[in-house]
Amino acid sequence: MLERLTAMPPDALMRAARTFAADPRKEKINLGVGIYYDAAGHVPVLEAVRRAEERIGGGRSWPYLLVEGLPGLFRGALDLAFGPALAGDAGTRTAVLQTPGGTGAFRLGAEMVRSLEPRTVAAVSDPSWPNHEAVLRAVGLEVRRYAYAGEGSGGPDVEGMIRDLEALPRGSLAVLHACCHNPTGWDPTPSQWERIVVAIAHRGLVPFVDMAYQGFGDGLAADSLPVRLAVAACAPVFVALSFSKSFSLYGERVGALCVVARDGAEAALLAERGRALVRTLYSSPPTHGALLVSEVLSDPVLHRDWEDELGAMRGRIRDMRSGFTERLAAGNAPRDFSFVKEQKGLFSYSGLTARQVGRLREEHAIHAIEDGRLCLAALNPGNLDRVVDAVRGVCMR
Ligand code: PMP
Repeated sequence: MLERLTAMPPDALMRAARTFAADPRKEKINLGVGIYYDAAGHVPVLEAVRRAEERIGGGRSWPYLLVEGLPGLFRGALDLAFGPALAGDAGTRTAVLQTPGGTGAFRLGAEMVRSLEPRTVAAVSDPSWPNHEAVLRAVGLEVRRYAYAGEGSGGPDVEGMIRDLEALPRGSLAVLHACCHNPTGWDPTPSQWERIVVAIAHRGLVPFVDMAYQGFGDGLAADSLPVRLAVAACAPVFVALSFSKSFSLYGERVGALCVVARDGAEAALLAERGRALVRTLYSSPPTHGALLVSEVLSDPVLHRDWEDELGAMRGRIRDMRSGFTERLAAGNAPRDFSFVKEQKGLFSYSGLTARQVGRLREEHAIHAIEDGRLCLAALNPGNLDRVVDAVRGVCMR
């Protein structure tokens, strides 16, 4: 068996994480990983989560959760995905399963699709979070790409996206980023989303909305607009939720898969199929993070406080985006970076070349992703000037 052992193709994000960890320089800055850091450069413990932790208490026992996870989490997940108004209605025809993070939700959804129709074609944005394509291929689906960000474009290529979606076979999976597109930071406007969903419904595609950054774009409700539009126009709709970023609970692995069917009976069958798949994948999801999220979402006071904290994280990233843009403009940067202010979420597709990213790393100990993706949520008042000077420097020559 081991004669067949060969090197795996490199994963750019994992490689960047390892290169950062191996860099011995104390002053190193990590703009590679998709994590929100606070102004002091720490992964924050949200106050609402800390209070939830106090309430769930230490010294408790840890039996298995159900295969589908913690039922107390489902209502909150549905409210977040659909908004409280729609959750009551669409929720009655939705299968919900708690999953190990958003990745687990995406994988479980993909497994479900393959188990229903193994010849399904799945389309992801070009570019996309690389794990989308990797997960879809891992379950054996054929993957295609739809236009999203052309070279040097100043926003999503919505015309190209619609053209490519309309060319897919009927029944194909259309993987969409609900908000804060990773890696570009460019989101369609609400009216563009309406056109995109009309095209998807018209072509008979199955939307798979990945919502890993809800609350980091324009707020919880605004960020879930694509989900609500898709649920109003299509069935089934797959939604992968991640609580990693919005609750700052990365390593706890909390997420949820929601699959909206045409009626309650179909939803029950989907939930049963989901449970059968989970049983062979990981048997049941982890407990601790789910208890925290469920406690926050089900308590109106904690929920409000959490939303405020999420708003503060969003505001801090916006400030850093403005600071980055304005400092570069004031310092006569050789390129215009004003688009960074318009982009949403943690990331910016900065337009820096692989060579410039390499120089940032070698000469300035600033780590980013080779495709030019920067995580602006890692900027803070203490490192902003250094990053701006370094970016200006590598753009000069
Ligand atoms: N989807 C996208 C677009 C992401 O960027 C990420 C996280 N980087 C995920 C899903 C998965 O999140 P999680 O860490 O919860 O698995």
